[in-house]
Amino acid sequence: MTTRLAVIPGDGIGPEVVAEVLPVLDWVRDRGRDLAWDRHPWGAERYLATGEILPETAFETLRDGTDGILFGAVGDPRVPDGRHAEGILLRLRRDLELAVNSRPCRPLLEAHVPLKDVPAGQVWIEVFRENTEGPYCLKGVSEPGRATDFAEHSEPAVRRLLEAAFARAAERGCALTVAHKANVLKHGHGLWLRVFEAIRASHPSVPARGMHADALLCALVQDPRPFGVIAADNYLGDLISDLLAAFQGGMGVAPSLSWAPHRPYRCSALAEPVHGSAPDLVGRDLANPTGMFLSTALLFRHLGWAPEAQALEQAVTVALQGGAATPDLGGTLGTRAMGAAIRSRLTA
Ligand code: ATP
Ligand code: MG
Repeated sequence: MTTRLAVIPGDGIGPEVVAEVLPVLDWVRDRGRDLAWDRHPWGAERYLATGEILPETAFETLRDGTDGILFGAVGDPRVPDGRHAEGILLRLRRDLELAVNSRPCRPLLEAHVPLKDVPAGQVWIEVFRENTEGPYCLKGVSEPGRATDFAEHSEPAVRRLLEAAFARAAERGCALTVAHKANVLKHGHGLWLRVFEAIRASHPSVPARGMHADALLCALVQDPRPFGVIAADNYLGDLISDLLAAFQGGMGVAPSLSWAPHRPYRCSALAEPVHGSAPDLVGRDLANPTGMFLSTALLFRHLGWAPEAQALEQAVTVALQGGAATPDLGGTLGTRAMGAAIRSRLTA
């Protein structure tokens, strides 16, 4: 069956970085993969022009008519409450049950690791961030002089995330660390710890422990090498993975894949760089497309195209090692030149 991808360039620098990876889809097709893709217009422009965020029929087309989504970014200063971003990205994560957000940190260049005496090749951490619950998903309340946010954690969602994290740690033969603050967030993170304790017995081969998130951040900066898979809720996972972005060259490099471990729908993954829409860079040929390339590689691997994923990651590595760099990496290449430098290293 034809693999169908939806491309949602979105807002800000999203369309600029997405444009650089589209020729890679042709390259995949030229290698004999049966692939078709369509571009979808959801984002701030569309919302401001028509009031449409993500119409129901469009959502159903994505859910039932595609295998995965390549996503740029959403977020636009002209929509200050972020309503359209919530209605697109949070909606897709929630209603496609893309419960796990994998954010690997595998630095490709020595110069990208700001820690002294830590060789790049010895760092390989994957954050498994819960994607559907926690404090980003419920509406809070603001009153004069008082503001309240809510965070909900449910046993099925925590179990699903931790099972996926254990499975990955077992596959890699690495340690699993569960980040929490159960000492103060007794209810929500208490539930995380109970679920963790309940399932760890079924994974005796994985060295696993819970760790207070604040102590974890300190330990990561001191020495990231002992860590393998880190599981965390939505909020802590966001903080930890942005810290790890700094170990791999910064926001412009870090990739992510949101995916559905149980594959309830045809569309089971959404690839997007860790960075957002970066309005300060728009239209200036300054955005680094590397994170978008590496996210695309994660999607290829999820689709079962490991050779293409590896070839793409290799192309990025060789380009960086050859000195290709955008200004955020200390170089002078623009978005398009950086994209071309990476693509030129793709082998047939
Ligand atoms: P979000 O809420 O969507 O995470 P954010 O407010 O965290 O968004 P980002 O869009 O992630 O903001 O960007 C933060 C800053 O990092 C930007 O202002 C920009 O300077 C830098 N940045 C982000 N993405 C890139 C990129 N691809 N290339 C270069 N610099 C980037
Ligand atoms: Mg951010």
